Amino acid sequence: MKIALVTGANRGLGLAAARRLAQDGAHVIIAARRPDAAADAAGRLSAEGLSASGVVIDVTDAATVRAAASEIEDRFGHLDVLVNNAGILPEAASGEQAEVIDLAMFRQTYATNVLGPVAVVEAFLPLIRRSPAGRIVNVSSTVGSLAHQTDPESPWHGMVVPAYQSSKAALNAITIVLAKALAGTPIKVTSVCPGWVQTDLAPGNREQAPTTPEDAAEVIARAATLDDAAPSGTFIDVDGAVAW
Ligand code: NAP
Repeated sequence: MKIALVTGANRGLGLAAARRLAQDGAHVIIAARRPDAAADAAGRLSAEGLSASGVVIDVTDAATVRAAASEIEDRFGHLDVLVNNAGILPEAASGEQAEVIDLAMFRQTYATNVLGPVAVVEAFLPLIRRSPAGRIVNVSSTVGSLAHQTDPESPWHGMVVPAYQSSKAALNAITIVLAKALAGTPIKVTSVCPGWVQTDLAPGNREQAPTTPEDAAEVIARAATLDDAAPSGTFIDVDGAVAW
């Protein structure tokens, strides 16, 4: 049985992705900031007949990340799939900002969306290297694509959320460099855009977004189960390649 870890998996897209990976036959480890949230979500999946357990990870707190890696090493010895899903968009709820570039907003956003995945990959890579087919999935966004941000024809061209968009661009760059650094291994690294999804990421999302978390989880499952011949270091959504 494959062992999969999903960060921020207690709700939203993370929970849907965890459920989907478990439905595909994996034992899924629900990582959440609060122990009760991890246990509740894992309990829900177990009650559905799926194989799930919980672990505490706050991606901004490297000590919790390291402790989780040690716990998972003791229990499972390796990790097959890592989904870096935890992410935030505080700009969407911040109202009027004093200036378009806000250092505090960048610090907060990057701590979770950029340094979070870096901390998690650093701690878990030794366990992923023990898998015969390790897969790292970075949950990014087309709104972070530099190609889309600079293309007047893109539906996302008019969007300006500087900290969030640049954080996802940085995450995409991390996908590329990691894929290159791990080219001699079976590990594949993929950035995915789940679409605009009905979650609580931003006010109004639930009401306005067209995509359910269940449908959005499809692309995460795809990246998590890439076959051995598939390329590493790609950026995909449900329709295929996304321009970087
Ligand atoms: P969400 O409903 O707000 O869920 C975010 C999840 O991340 C929650 O489980 C939250 O945990 C967790 N989280 C936040 N900060 C964390 C931290 N420091 N450590 C660990 N977990 C943390 O949002 P979502 O839409 O499911 O977002 C999931 C991912 O999809 C994000 O990376 C987001 O950027 C990306 N995405 C979403 C959309 C969309 O339209 N929704 C589009 C493109 C990309 P708590 O419950 O403890 O807060």
